[in-house]
Amino acid sequence: TMSAKIINGNAIAREVRAEWKIRATNLAERGTRPGLAVVIVGDNPASSIYVRNKAKACNEIGIYSEIHEFPENSVQDEVIRRIQELNGNPLIHGILVQLPLPRHFDSGKVIASIAVEKDVDGFHLYNVGALVTGNTIFPPCTPYGVMKMLEKSAIPIEGQHAVVVGRSNIVGKPMALMLLQKGATVTICTSKTRELADHTRRADILVVAAGKPRMITANMVKAGATVIDVGINRMPDGKITGDVDFESVKEKAGNITPVPGGVGPMTITMLLCNTIEAAERASRR
Ligand code: NDP
Repeated sequence: TMSAKIINGNAIAREVRAEWKIRATNLAERGTRPGLAVVIVGDNPASSIYVRNKAKACNEIGIYSEIHEFPENSVQDEVIRRIQELNGNPLIHGILVQLPLPRHFDSGKVIASIAVEKDVDGFHLYNVGALVTGNTIFPPCTPYGVMKMLEKSAIPIEGQHAVVVGRSNIVGKPMALMLLQKGATVTICTSKTRELADHTRRADILVVAAGKPRMITANMVKAGATVIDVGINRMPDGKITGDVDFESVKEKAGNITPVPGGVGPMTITMLLCNTIEAAERASRR
């Protein structure tokens, strides 16, 4: 048997960052340095790592960044007031609220306070509506990263059958909408789907975002399919594994993303792209 082509997320992320670094540099030379503000509430250790990684990535590509930290017991209105200040701050082009927020927060309300043109995560309901109607303003970063990987790997989408496993608002649902927009026939599977394998086996492009380690096995995949594994699962031994049983599926798929080193590095990359895009738009206004 022929082994699948491995889609290298690190290499594609590097390539995309190099392209966008030029755009950031050009903008800065014309007087607009792209700026990102990250708002984090509470002391979730995973969130703190993500936020620090985002700040570091910003620095490397030439984006100015600010981290706005609030203690766990903060009042929601105080955070919203800060977001409103950032909305009016000309040095800031993108605002990101690190989720999850503490339980006494209404995330929807906090996200609704972000100015639409600075919502680089694409989670504001206006941006969600824009995505649904095919007038995307800022594509949500993880599915945007998947689309970029497909594009850079020259994998056709139009007319293909895409199956998305997972329907979350941050991954599965926007993923399905983006594939639909590009002309794929899309099936969305959830934890309620009966005979999951009957669906996944029909996929030319299978995107898995369920958060269930190695749930997709070779018998669930069509020979030659493109398999994109969004899952990030930390195993008891501390290792990270995806939602796809990579070792067996790579013997059957045509293209496959590894975990780590697949979709993961693309997510932050697309956040950087959205921030630079926001700054480009602001400089044109
Ligand atoms: P959620 O837990 O919010 O959603 C998981 C989805 O998968 C739900 O819609 C759920 O269905 C569905 N699901 C769960 N089990 C099954 C099953 N056995 N069969 C079919 N569908 C199932 O997770 P997220 O979307 O936030 O994240 C998904 C995975 O991607 C996680 O591992 C997460 O860590 C990872 N992730 C990776 C990112 C990256 O940068 N690479 C970014 C974001 C997330 P139902 O709705 O019916 O419950």
